[in-house]
Amino acid sequence: MDFCVLTIFPEMLETFAASGIIGRAVESGRISITPVNIRDYAQGRHKVTDDRPYGGGSGMIMKPEPLAAAIREAKKRRPNASTVLLSPQGRRFDQHTAWQYAECEDLIFVCGRYEGIDERICETLIDDEVSIGDYVLTGGELAAMVIIDAVTRYIPGALGAKDAAEFDSFSGSRLEHAHYTRPRDFEGMEVPEVLLSGNHREIENWRSESALMHTLLKRPDLLEKTGLTDREKQIVKKWCRYLESLVWE
Ligand code: SAM
Repeated sequence: MDFCVLTIFPEMLETFAASGIIGRAVESGRISITPVNIRDYAQGRHKVTDDRPYGGGSGMIMKPEPLAAAIREAKKRRPNASTVLLSPQGRRFDQHTAWQYAECEDLIFVCGRYEGIDERICETLIDDEVSIGDYVLTGGELAAMVIIDAVTRYIPGALGAKDAAEFDSFSGSRLEHAHYTRPRDFEGMEVPEVLLSGNHREIENWRSESALMHTLLKRPDLLEKTGLTDREKQIVKKWCRYLESLVWE
């Protein structure tokens, strides 16, 4: 899959595209990241990409002509790509959208700057408008990288078996269980005994319980959304019995 990123700061993507799992996915040809400098599509000696807003007010707006030319050229090269505008006003990006995007042939990301882009581009050349959260960044590049990172995890073969995404938080409707690595004793804190037992069933049980505890403590809204499975009800009843024993002791 090619992630084409339209930006006035293409250099921001260089280290990202060369590092870690993303770098490996690029090297192996599973993905490509193609930064396109919107300024290259601007007219005139100064290659201006922004202008003052009609109606007055502070800040600058990204001009429509260079954006339109850059998007049309990117589309010509990737006719099946969806064009995604990064914007704090867009629908919220989440794991589900990451899976959907991972099914796409190619994606074109449009990164705004200043006060954003001319509305006529949104109306005519944008297929999807996506936000990475309810806060305002100075530009769309970080948002594009966040999305490319999350989507690449679901491109077949991009993660080695050791980094498998199937048990990640949000893969189901629970957060992931706790993790431990060596040393066995860190500053007096021991790794849970069961993880050293080699008993795979016990370890799986412990992990389901740990995942449920993480979800309950950190994101109870996820439990409210789906309700508890029979197995989870058993676990919660066990916790209740334990808490009661503390209360009535
Ligand atoms: N004036 C705009 C508004 O209030 O909706 C914000 C513009 S912001 C300073 C500049 C650019 O950063 C946006 O055009 C967008 O591309 C990007 N951006 C800012 N916050 C973002 C977010 N939460 N998610 C995705 N992109 C964001």
